[in-house]
Amino acid sequence: MKYLLWVLVIALAWWVLTRPRKATHIKTEKSEASAQEMAQCAQCGVHLPQDEAVCGEKGLYCSTEHRSIAQDRNPA
Ligand SMILES: [Zn+2]
Repeated sequence: MKYLLWVLVIALAWWVLTRPRKATHIKTEKSEASAQEMAQCAQCGVHLPQDEAVCGEKGLYCSTEHRSIAQDRNPA
């Protein structure tokens, strides 16, 4: 009976130790997939993915047209 109790304790400890790690792993994968940084156009205010945004000295824009309207230029 004492042996059975230890088995249960070890099983419970194993479950507690392994479960949160798995959950964190899934959460990390999910957030990496959906966490695309969003940018807002400094001219028209439209939201777009940051890798599609046009970079200016004053901020990010949705297009090069809006960057020129804002009288900004590419810092690069
Ligand atoms: Zn814009």
